[in-house]
Amino acid sequence: AKAQGRNTYRFFTDAMSAEAQRHLSLERRLRHALEHERFVLHYQPQVDIASGRIVGCEALLRWNDPDEGLVPPGRFIPFAEESGLIVPIGEWALHSACLQARRWADAGLPPLQVSVNLSARQLWQAELPDRIAAILKATGLPPQALDLELTESMIMGHEAQAVERLGQLRSMGLRLAIDDFGTGYSSLSYLKNLPIEVLKIDQSFVRNIPQDRNDMEIAGGIIALARKLNLAVTAEGVETAAQLDFLAGQGCDSYQGYLFSRPLPAAEFEKLLSR
Ligand code: C2E
Ligand code: CA
Ligand code: CA
Ligand code: CA
Repeated sequence: AKAQGRNTYRFFTDAMSAEAQRHLSLERRLRHALEHERFVLHYQPQVDIASGRIVGCEALLRWNDPDEGLVPPGRFIPFAEESGLIVPIGEWALHSACLQARRWADAGLPPLQVSVNLSARQLWQAELPDRIAAILKATGLPPQALDLELTESMIMGHEAQAVERLGQLRSMGLRLAIDDFGTGYSSLSYLKNLPIEVLKIDQSFVRNIPQDRNDMEIAGGIIALARKLNLAVTAEGVETAAQLDFLAGQGCDSYQGYLFSRPLPAAEFEKLLSR
């Protein structure tokens, strides 16, 4: 029994070290990618439902790996969060998105909000407001043009700190959006205590419209709540005209989704803008 126990233990440590090695090499590759600017942002249009115009875009990160090609964020962001590398990677994304938005404005394209996703590590980084202020100064983007997307789970259990931190960001002139709204199981009370401007309805509530009555009730309910609280509401993952019709009928302000466009490289997004 003892020998068997030892074997099990050996097996376990071997498995651990394989996992640890995989992480170490991923960490090395991500650091390398950061140093050599191997990340790119794609931009997905955000469309105003009433006018049909592009009023903003969400910047979405991809890793351009020489071996694997464009790696989607789902495959490296969880690890980047765990290792803390999300802080410098996220800062690169913020800088890059602000610079791009400033260039589009300089080129005379219609005014545009740019939305950037923030991770928990970034939100709670003491220097975040200073870092953002430096990026806005360096790029010349007015703070009003930048939206930061946060999730409910980042705030859950830290409501007092969130009041302070989001207040700092809001007082700089930025707009704050709650991403994946409805998936965080949080109490709704934070909505009245925090300086939030936008709710983004998670795509899981949009996907099965109009087949799923419950999802329609939830999406409709979120829109009604947003309107009562005087928040703007954006729907994500809109893929069909039937989904858009339903959301429009409920009073949703704007949407993103494959129905209008997938996230695009900057040059292609620009073509869409100047149409
Ligand atoms: P998210 O913020 O919820 O972004 C929306 C995701 O839905 C994007 O996936 C987008 O490509 C996808 N999408 C857009 N329209 C449709 C549609 O009509 N149908 C479907 N099925 N999907 C659609 P993506 O680009 O793979 O990003 C995944 C997640 O990675 C994002 O989810 C966000 O949480 C995270 N992420 C992306 N960029 C960054 C970043 O710069 N920083 C951080 N911290 N996270 C990021
Ligand atoms: Ca987002
Ligand atoms: Ca989302
Ligand atoms: Ca999501």
